Amino acid sequence: MERTFIAIKPDGGQRGLVAEIICRFERKGFKLVAIKMLVPSKEFAQKHYDDLKEKPFFDGLCEFLSSGPVIAMVWEGEGVIKYGRKLIGATDPQKSEPGTIRGDLAVVVGRNIIHGSDGLETAKNEINLWFQPQELV
Ligand code: ATP
Ligand code: MG
Repeated sequence: MERTFIAIKPDGGQRGLVAEIICRFERKGFKLVAIKMLVPSKEFAQKHYDDLKEKPFFDGLCEFLSSGPVIAMVWEGEGVIKYGRKLIGATDPQKSEPGTIRGDLAVVVGRNIIHGSDGLETAKNEINLWFQPQELV
């Protein structure tokens, strides 16, 4: 069954949005198969966002992801990668539709509260980066 990597970024936790975000994935019918809380190092954040290393915001982004606790999760279900991104909404919360997580709960692109894998290959790579096989149920 298809799986995706979802992370609540430090701003999501600080703002008390963990339950709200998990609730939206659960209500849709997706299944939580792994969850943990950790503060990633900046080097780890750089690995996670490796595809963005040429971007001008890369350093600030990695600095931010490593600035506090992240809720790392794996969600499972038919079409969960693409539909998970739909639940999350567009990258820039100014452009995310109301009804999406970023559309309803965030304002600026640098503090958009949640990450979701963008494809089958990235989902596999990100799950392997953040979790050991025995952590997945
Ligand atoms: P994520 O990978 O976090 O799920 P995404 O796939 O919607 O987000 P990406 O293009 O992968 O978007 O960008 C990764 C993250 O980098 C974004 O979530 C956002 O926090 C940050 N980011 C993207 N564009 C900008 C920008 N123009 N300025 C500042 N930060 C940005
Ligand atoms: Mg992305």
